[in-house]
Amino acid sequence: MPEPVNITFYSPVPGSGANFLSVGFFQYLTRRQDHSVALYDCDYQYPLADSLLKVWLKEEGKVTVRLPVINRNQCILCKACARACAFHAIRIEPAISYITLDEERCRACHACLNTCRYDAIREKPGEIGQWRKYQWKENALVFEGTLQAEEFFAIRFIQQLKALPFSGRYKLVVAYSGMSYSALESIHNTDILIVVIDPAFFDTRYFDWILRLLKKNDHHPYVILNRCEVVNNELISWLFNNNLDILAEIPEVRLPGGMEQNAEYPAFLPDGHIGLEACFSSLYQFVEKVTIIPG
Ligand code: SF4
Ligand code: SF4
Repeated sequence: MPEPVNITFYSPVPGSGANFLSVGFFQYLTRRQDHSVALYDCDYQYPLADSLLKVWLKEEGKVTVRLPVINRNQCILCKACARACAFHAIRIEPAISYITLDEERCRACHACLNTCRYDAIREKPGEIGQWRKYQWKENALVFEGTLQAEEFFAIRFIQQLKALPFSGRYKLVVAYSGMSYSALESIHNTDILIVVIDPAFFDTRYFDWILRLLKKNDHHPYVILNRCEVVNNELISWLFNNNLDILAEIPEVRLPGGMEQNAEYPAFLPDGHIGLEACFSSLYQFVEKVTIIPG
């Protein structure tokens, strides 16, 4: 069974439309019915997918990390673990035979575990959040989750969310937006990286920096312009100078009514919207052309 093609939608500036376009393309692929497709929403703070689609819960589970736990009977208070811990999570007072591990500070890096030569540190599972798997259509799944621990666990949360199994053709990932480590993790290991840019939010200095970072991580981004009727000549020159391909230009979608009027298709993707259908159709053709499925 070939690996799914991983297509990631990423907005360097929150609110530029990556959610909108990824959910829209997900719906488009689902309607075509020639492949099964899954949507992975990496926004662990405000997961959107289940509020945008009329989905039903199929499965859920915990996202965990392995936390250290000290066995005081084995410990000889040598302090090696406390010295190894870069986060000052272990406190030792040999005078009163005291050792304690502060789980609020612990980042589950396992440096202490690897240091202790007296087998006094073991592991236990520590919950950092939940994942949920939803069925949307027969051929379409949605994965999302909520982080319920400190932000420094976000990378491991995203890794586990993205590793939830799916064996269909297209895996669409909604990256965490902005320019954090979480955002970089959510675009890691993608086959096609689509950067969604709203011309109204473009700033050359900021985007130069982002592009350098993406290239340093071996990403060649393709661009979709959202709200393309906003004219920004600086952006057009920047795209040209950096040799970036515009895959699609999406006009602003104005809708009568609201999301609740059409639960089957969310407010911003009315079924059969000619402009969007044309954009998704050309995006689909591009994706089919550049992905070679082994075997
Ligand atoms: S390294 Fe092991 S034995 Fe030494 S203080 Fe830490 S837990 Fe105790
Ligand atoms: S796992 Fe890492 S952060 Fe946690 S106590 Fe051990 S060394 Fe410190």
